[in-house]
Amino acid sequence: MKNLIQYRCEDSLALIGLSCAPVNALGQALREQLLEACERAAADPGVKALVLHGEGLVFSAGADIAEFGSAASFARPDLPSLLVRLSELDKPLIAAIGGLALGGGLELALACGYRVAEAGARLGLPEIKLGLLPGAGGTQRLPRLIGAEAALEMIVSGQPITAQRALELGLIERVAPDANSLLDTARSVALELIARQAPAHPAWPQANPGAGVPANYFADYRAANLGRWKGQSAPQRVVTAIEAACSLPLAEGLAREGELFKEAEASSESEALRHVFFAEREVGKLPGLDAGTPIRPISRVAVIGAGTMGGGIAMNFANAGMAVTLLELKADALARGLELIGKNYQASVQRGKLTAAQVDERLALIHGTLDYADIADADLVIEAVFESLPIKQQVFRTLDEVCKAGAILASNTSTLDVDAIAAVTRRPQDVVGLHFFSPANVMRLLEVVRGTATAPDVLATTLKIAKRIGKIPVVSGVCFGFIGNRMLEPYSREAHRLLLEGATPAQVDKVLTGLGLAMGVLAMHDLAGIDVSFLVRESRRDLIAHDQGYCKLADALYGLGRFGQKTSSGYYLYEGRERKDDPQVLALAEQIAGELGIQRRAISDQEIHDRCVLMLVNEGIQLLDEGIAQRSSDIDLVWNNGYGFPAWRGGPLHYAEGLGLAQVLQRIGHYREALGAYGEMWFQPAALLERLVASGQARIERI
Ligand code: NAD
Repeated sequence: MKNLIQYRCEDSLALIGLSCAPVNALGQALREQLLEACERAAADPGVKALVLHGEGLVFSAGADIAEFGSAASFARPDLPSLLVRLSELDKPLIAAIGGLALGGGLELALACGYRVAEAGARLGLPEIKLGLLPGAGGTQRLPRLIGAEAALEMIVSGQPITAQRALELGLIERVAPDANSLLDTARSVALELIARQAPAHPAWPQANPGAGVPANYFADYRAANLGRWKGQSAPQRVVTAIEAACSLPLAEGLAREGELFKEAEASSESEALRHVFFAEREVGKLPGLDAGTPIRPISRVAVIGAGTMGGGIAMNFANAGMAVTLLELKADALARGLELIGKNYQASVQRGKLTAAQVDERLALIHGTLDYADIADADLVIEAVFESLPIKQQVFRTLDEVCKAGAILASNTSTLDVDAIAAVTRRPQDVVGLHFFSPANVMRLLEVVRGTATAPDVLATTLKIAKRIGKIPVVSGVCFGFIGNRMLEPYSREAHRLLLEGATPAQVDKVLTGLGLAMGVLAMHDLAGIDVSFLVRESRRDLIAHDQGYCKLADALYGLGRFGQKTSSGYYLYEGRERKDDPQVLALAEQIAGELGIQRRAISDQEIHDRCVLMLVNEGIQLLDEGIAQRSSDIDLVWNNGYGFPAWRGGPLHYAEGLGLAQVLQRIGHYREALGAYGEMWFQPAALLERLVASGQARIERI
């Protein structure tokens, strides 16, 4: 058996080092060896105290994700009982926390009688991010240590805290100046404890954590947060567990926590969040690209166009400490672009996210220019000029002339054909699409568009650089709208058509936000600009000529100058941040429906859900079949990170799997018939969906 514990005796101390690279995940083998080591120290009369530490830089990042949802996570010794046993040892046990103590790792530290951490350590209980709650005593021991309110805050947020904050909260007893001095600090704490014959387990500072909590605290907390949690159950379970800590003795509280954990683990919400977790680890893995694919060195970056997107893109690189040159055609446009970047950074300072000094450092990395000669030696150039093929092609011709050989030439186009852009250069293998989402310095999604000629090392390099700037890169093939915007088409189409058939914008959007989406699709169009989608539509009228009826309302709003939030009116009327249905829009919808001969009727919420969401799903499956997307989890990531689809539903395709693929197909078929000629035209099930259902498959994958 592999040795996962380093056991050393030093005088009266047993030093027990967790040695399971890379992060001391608490899998079954490590748990077993840890228990043995602690029993050995407990039985050794020469040992007066135990110090538990990580052999590398990390104490423990928590449970072993490979065991998630499987029997192994509860194989003996399971973590909850191991920690109960550790908490019963009759010798002081000191956790020496270096690097990270997260999830089960922090619960392990909580089961020790004493805790010290190095100054750079981070401590947290992030289980909620996977739809879970701490299941090895975290919800019961933490409130007894730092109080119910602070514990609730820490567990519901899932955010780690610093060692200094942990000291202030009373979560640890001492902070070592750095990782090198951590063990010495732990040793001296242990020797002090031995010298003063301290108890193995000091009394809990908050033995009765409920005592200081105001009456109705939990009910009020639930009521205040219900809207923010939408339909999620994990935060509710956390509150229940902390309430149990306030009302039950420890052993009973632990049992209650165990029940709640099992419920959470079996929930569709946790399953969805775990799906997203694994999707993020898979994304960017491509057949043919492996660790051996060469990476082009990238140190100098240039961005063409200092508009909304160009400025945000430049900020990403400056934030990652990389120099970036921002090129514009005209001096005033450049000045405006640089000013906007400055304002965005100032906003971060005001929100306390960055210090003025950090902003100065970042601004110093961004250089404006009007001269292409200044970007001749850039390793990566990202074009973000107007969305017009001739303009972009002209920019790429110039880049082809001036840029050094081997430079990666990327376009941030949201709709145009990357191959047509690459074709005007003599180096199409170096051209790739990098589709950032707005605001580009905030949104994590990056669609990496692989052109027909894009070289593997260009793709590998852009994937790597994307991670360096903190993005989730999803590879897409070339098609109109790539993955995200192409799926947006049928989803939006149904929303628009439903307005003509009798629904109101608020009704459509409420169904979607009810599903957990951050925003309804019509509110989203108001935010993005009705003028923007109009211009995209104009560029491809010939392709959608067979049925433009559903576009007529959007076109009419454009004609009225109702561009959305920026004009305080679009699908909705805006008063400040408030939006409400506008009788003028409802009348317009009715009038257009009359002109098109569309029968108006009451529309059920179920129909709105089915038509918008199932058409979204259907298009995603079609994209997978066409090979535009690599895997269904990539599609889910695009919608979670670019379009506000709730991660706790896993993403549209994971959600469809939960509905049942046969059910999805059946409902699409239902609308195909029920909606007459319109249904016949648009409710065509993806061939892959039909094949999956015919072969009885529950998961969406290419077959
Ligand atoms: P924008 O109009 O805000 O900015 C475009 C900038 O490019 C302007 O500052 C303009 O002066 C400059 N420019 C135009 N031609 C140029 C040239 N030949 N050389 C140098 N600079 C030139 O537009 P935007 O919203 O930033 O969009 C830029 C690109 O990003 C478009 O392709 C767009 O489709 C894409 N995009 C936009 C969004 C979005 O939400 N705005 C999202 C994703 C992708």
